[in-house]
Amino acid sequence: MRYSGFSVLLNGLRGQAGWKPIWRDPAPKPRYDVIIIGGGGHGLATAYYLARNHGITNVAVLERGYLGGGNVGRNTTIVRANYHIDGNTEFYSHSLKLWEGLEQELNYNVMMSQRGVINLAHSDGQMDFYARRGNAIRLQGDDAELLGRDEVRAAYPYLDHQNARFPIHGGLLQRRGGTARHDAVAWGFARGADTRGVDLIQNCEVTGFRIERGRVLGVETSRGSIMADKVGMSVAGRSSQVGQMAGLRLPIESHVLQAFVTEGLKPILPGVVTFGMGHFYISQSDKGGLVFGGDLDFYNSYAARGNLPMVEHVCEAGMAMMPMIGRARMLRSWGGIMDMTMDGSPIIDKTPVDGLFFNGGWCYGGFKATPASGWCFAHLIATGQPSRHATKLRMDRFETGHVLDEEGTGAQPNRH
Ligand SMILES: Cc1cc2nc3c(=O)[nH]c(=O)nc-3n(C[C@H](O)[C@H](O)[C@H](O)COP(=O)(O)OP(=O)(O)OC[C@H]3O[C@@H](n4cnc5c(N)ncnc54)[C@H](O)[C@@H]3O)c2cc1C
Repeated sequence: MRYSGFSVLLNGLRGQAGWKPIWRDPAPKPRYDVIIIGGGGHGLATAYYLARNHGITNVAVLERGYLGGGNVGRNTTIVRANYHIDGNTEFYSHSLKLWEGLEQELNYNVMMSQRGVINLAHSDGQMDFYARRGNAIRLQGDDAELLGRDEVRAAYPYLDHQNARFPIHGGLLQRRGGTARHDAVAWGFARGADTRGVDLIQNCEVTGFRIERGRVLGVETSRGSIMADKVGMSVAGRSSQVGQMAGLRLPIESHVLQAFVTEGLKPILPGVVTFGMGHFYISQSDKGGLVFGGDLDFYNSYAARGNLPMVEHVCEAGMAMMPMIGRARMLRSWGGIMDMTMDGSPIIDKTPVDGLFFNGGWCYGGFKATPASGWCFAHLIATGQPSRHATKLRMDRFETGHVLDEEGTGAQPNRH
């Protein structure tokens, strides 16, 4: 069914009896052309673009839990394309362009809201760096504006502009950045893939691979063996575990990242604000809750929950930059498992096993990457060649030294 004002009206008149589940619940077939492991944003987007861009519809997405139950439903929903390094800029630029047409493309309301993302600057050196970053973003064709003290103060008067340690000197604003409703993105891609014939199979955990003479033949799952010509891994925080089942040792560590939300408040935050020096960022959801987060918990873990010291650290950073946040009551906090690479940038590449492809290492940035990641991964699986938007997101950069270290923090995953 196509969603429209007319279908809402019609179903209203018919007692809402015409709505159907938005995807089927098929049993796995014994064989597919392509299997995608992981029903998160990236796996679902990949299946969608395999069908939409390449006409490959004999595809299954295998998800160990429920669709969208991983990080795609746990993130703080920030979308932006304000990267600096060649390799990342073109990829995230492509992603933002796809975001801008995503609702029409999927015929699904993903609540894309281009409310602007501002990175605060606290020193002359940081302003210089933001000028360079802004230029790189503009050379890529995206928008970036360097704001001075007064402009930031006018937009966000209640920040602590005279903070003794981190006075606000200005900021780098990307007006086309913003937020989107995370679950809706998973549901929209799922619906689009299902409509094109993709089988979305939930409660189906991949437990091993069938590999013979260096070629993947299929996977073992909690619902039996399923064969395929090609298999794509899109399991985010579980990348190293699933990779190990295929004999791969990936340049990825898993870490916990927490997020927090307050009670609903009247609109106070027009856009997304990041206070990088304090590892704090915040936006306001459409329901009114302040949604904020900070740094990783800093220890390796596969548990989707965090620890109290980081709760304290994030709240301290929030209080430092936005003292009034201390008056808001926090309702919930949660954690997600982050697939952190050694240079902080993702990987979309073939693996040494023929027919087995890898997508992961999304670190903090995977939600905004969702459409482009699916687009590029589908291209790689379908054609065997990297998409022109993702030529540098290669696995072998850790051997050749052509790393994409956006933050310049070195080969330490929990620093990115
Ligand atoms: C607290 C938090 C805040 C974040 N904020 C942002 C943000 O503001 N902006 C941004 O761009 N990014 C953000 N991120 C990062 C972003 O959410 C992730 O990088 C991205 O969601 C990862 O891709 P995914 O959606 O495919 O992952 P997931 O949704 O985690 O999908 C992977 C799926 O694979 C499944 N799986 C794992 N193992 C198996 C198996 N053996 N068999 C079958 N299925 C399996 C999992 O169950 C899961 O559903 C945040 C992350 C967290 C945790």
